[in-house]
Amino acid sequence: MNRFINLLILVAVVLGAGCIMAGPCLGAAKDSRGLKAPSPSGKTDPIYVSIFTHNEEDDPYWLELRGNRQKYLDYRAYLIAKVKLVRQYGAILNWETDHVVLEAMEKFEKGDLLKETKGKTVLRWMVEDMAVKVDPHGHLSQYNYADLAYLIQKLGGGTSVVVGGFGLFRGVRGGQLEQLDWMRTIGIGPDGAIRGRRFPSFTWRPKLVLQPGMIGHAYDEYSSGVWRPRESGDFLQNQPDGRFICIGTGFPFPGSIVGPRQAQGPKIRYSNVDYLKELIGKIQSGEVPAGKIYTASLHSRDHEMDGRIADLKQTLERLQPYVLSGQVIYKDYEGVVQIWQTRYGGQPNRYGIENFSISKPLTQGLQEFINREKGRRPGSQGLQIPPPPGVPPPPGMHPLPPGRQPFP
Ligand SMILES: [Zn+2]
Repeated sequence: MNRFINLLILVAVVLGAGCIMAGPCLGAAKDSRGLKAPSPSGKTDPIYVSIFTHNEEDDPYWLELRGNRQKYLDYRAYLIAKVKLVRQYGAILNWETDHVVLEAMEKFEKGDLLKETKGKTVLRWMVEDMAVKVDPHGHLSQYNYADLAYLIQKLGGGTSVVVGGFGLFRGVRGGQLEQLDWMRTIGIGPDGAIRGRRFPSFTWRPKLVLQPGMIGHAYDEYSSGVWRPRESGDFLQNQPDGRFICIGTGFPFPGSIVGPRQAQGPKIRYSNVDYLKELIGKIQSGEVPAGKIYTASLHSRDHEMDGRIADLKQTLERLQPYVLSGQVIYKDYEGVVQIWQTRYGGQPNRYGIENFSISKPLTQGLQEFINREKGRRPGSQGLQIPPPPGVPPPPGMHPLPPGRQPFP
């Protein structure tokens, strides 16, 4: 039949699987407390840290922006403050957006409010004056990734090559994860392109496929490093001639920024920038291979209440000693790829979360999440039960390929 069906390979990934590309497997996670003070720059490999934020199409906060000018103005002020804050710390924000906020911008960005952004729409100001990278984040119920890239371009947000977030994992009984056919999940055709659903004459070719995860975030892909994911089969394995690149986020949800829990319940396992501290410790002690690229991200919700500016500021302040010592270098995602190609010769590296102290609680949390979800309606949260053929996915869900039922 079509090639998609042949490509549909569901790979069972047993949690705790060994290191795949990061050299010798280092066994169980160690606690890396007793961390040394930052050493002078240049002594050890740095971690390239990106800061991203995203909004969605199905949350009342963002939905309301389209019909309520005052709410939109509040959001606008908040977004401007965040962009400025991130810039102040020498970083560049990757702002990932779904269609709802773009539609609000299209509606309200005119008149007096442009004074604050040099007479430009906030989107243009972000891109042209603050170097912000604008990338699509889609739940794909109405717009696919190409449509979002088109909308962004049309509104002056630049030409993105980044898929900002997609479903890679699905939970199955026993706390195991299955990998989905990620190219199909994103909607990338065999030619590497996505044709618009709303704008069928527009074709988009993404290059970076980022933030692979699981609905509900009970267990996302939390590796550090850069690689070219296999186009069929295991996403976590490098495919030397692969057309797409993944930049690992590490654990991007410090409790100090996102609060004690994910929106759908799973507990946050690092209360602060401990993931970065742990990785810095591993680099310093030689526990991880030297001369390879290490990456991480920080995620702040694109939401006034759930992504407070003061919390982000405090976290950036905590990281500042590591920035000054050269152990942390801020880069937007395209900047990371450039460094990877020029300084590291495009050599793949993926250092998995199974080597970190949160590995065990994370796995336990995933099992609890899956068991709790078991009784809920199909399609909810971490359980992505594919709809029968021809039936569109419920609003807000990433459409998924047909596959075997998670709980036969
Ligand atoms: Zn989302």
